Amino acid sequence: MALLSPDQALEAIEALVPEPRTELIPLAEALGRALAEEVTAPQDSPPFAKAAMDGYAVRSVDPGTRYRLTATLAAGEAPARPLERGECVKIMTGAMMPPGADKVLRVEFVRERDGVVELLQEEPYANVIARGENLKAGERVLGPRILEPRDIGVLASLGRDQVRAAVPPLVGVLATGSELRNPGESLGPGQIYNSNGPQLCAQVAGAGGRPRCYGIVSDEPALLRSAVQRALEECELLLLSGGVSMGELDFVPAVLRDCGAEILFHKLAVKPGKPTLFARWTRRGRPAYIFGLPGNPVSAYVIFELLVQPLLYRLLGLHYRPRQVAALLADSVKRRDAERVEFRPVRLEGGEAHPLSYHGSSHLNALSEADALLRLDSGVQRLEKGTRVYVRLL
Ligand code: AMP
Ligand code: MG
Repeated sequence: MALLSPDQALEAIEALVPEPRTELIPLAEALGRALAEEVTAPQDSPPFAKAAMDGYAVRSVDPGTRYRLTATLAAGEAPARPLERGECVKIMTGAMMPPGADKVLRVEFVRERDGVVELLQEEPYANVIARGENLKAGERVLGPRILEPRDIGVLASLGRDQVRAAVPPLVGVLATGSELRNPGESLGPGQIYNSNGPQLCAQVAGAGGRPRCYGIVSDEPALLRSAVQRALEECELLLLSGGVSMGELDFVPAVLRDCGAEILFHKLAVKPGKPTLFARWTRRGRPAYIFGLPGNPVSAYVIFELLVQPLLYRLLGLHYRPRQVAALLADSVKRRDAERVEFRPVRLEGGEAHPLSYHGSSHLNALSEADALLRLDSGVQRLEKGTRVYVRLL
C-alpha cells in the first residue's frame, strides 16, 4: 500500500474538531495565548474627531487667511464651545476638535502675533482624524488567533483588560531509548544525550502548549507501557520519540495498541520522518492524541513543524498556517531517490535560499543555521540554481 503523504496526514489532523476549554485571563498575561472570542469595537475609534497635528483648528469654510485666537486645547481637554466664524484655537495633536472646526493648520505654516493667527502657506490637508475613521462601533476587530504584541495593543485600545483564551493543552513529552542520558549526566560507551525531550518541550511551549516532561524510558515494553499509560491519563497530547520504526527494539506501536490506542497512521512518504505514527486514545469520551516521532532529532523537529504544531493549533481552536516566503535557489539541489516529499534546511539571505550542508536526520546542529525548510515534492529529483521556490520559515 502506498504510504500516506505528509499532506494527507495534515489533512487528517486539520479535520479534527476538538473543543478547547476557555478561560478569562488578564490582558497582561495574554501575549502568546490563543484568543477564543470574536472581539468587536465597543465604540467608534477614535471616539471623537481629533487633531492629527499640532497647529490651529479652523473652519475651512471661513474666507481669508487670518483668524482670531480664542483658546488653547490640549489632548484630554474638552472644547468649551463651538468655533465661530473667523476664530481659531491652538490645538495639540490628539486633542478633541471643537465643534465647527474641520481643519488644523499646522504650526509650521502660520504666524501667531497679538492674538491673531495668519496663514503663511497654503495648508493642503485637513489634518483631522475623523470620529470612527479607524473603527466603527460594533465592527469586528480580532478573532481566534495567537496574540502578538500588536494585538495586545489593539485590545488595550478597545479598553479590554481581560480576554477569553483557550486553555493551553497539556502536552506530555517522553523520550524512549536505552541509549539516552539526560544532559548534565556523564555518557558511558554507546550512550548519547536526550536532545529530543528538551527540544520537543521547547517546541510545545513555543507553539502555545503546556509541556510536561516525562523524561527517558528505556526500550523495555513493560516500563514503556506504564509510562505511556500514566502520561495518557494526564495529557491531551503525548509526544513520544524513538522506538517507532522497524527495529527489533522499537516497541512503541505495539505498546500503544496494548494501551488501547487506535493507530490513525503509521509511516509517511516524507523525509525526514518516515516512521511517524499518529494515534488516538479515548477515555470517557475524551480523546488524547499521540505522536510517535522518529528518534533522529532532525526528524522529530521537522515532523513537529509539519504535523504536531497544526494539531496543537487545532487543540487551541485554531488552524495553523505556516509562513512561506519566495526565494531564488542560490545553488542547485539534487537527490537520487525522489519517492518521498523531502525537506531540507536553507539559510535566507538577500532574497536567496542557500541550501545548507546537511548530512541527514541526525545532523541536528545544521538546523541552527537554518531560517527555513525547502520542500522537494515527490518526483522532483533536481532543482536548478536560480529556481524560484517557496520556503517555509522556521
Ligand atoms: P530510533 O527512532 O529509536 O530508531 O532512533 C533513531 C536514532 O535517533 C538513533 O540513533 C537514536 O539513538 C537517536 N535518538 C533516539 N532518541 C533520541 C533522543 N531522545 N535524542 C537524541 N537522539 C535520539
Ligand atoms: Mg531507539
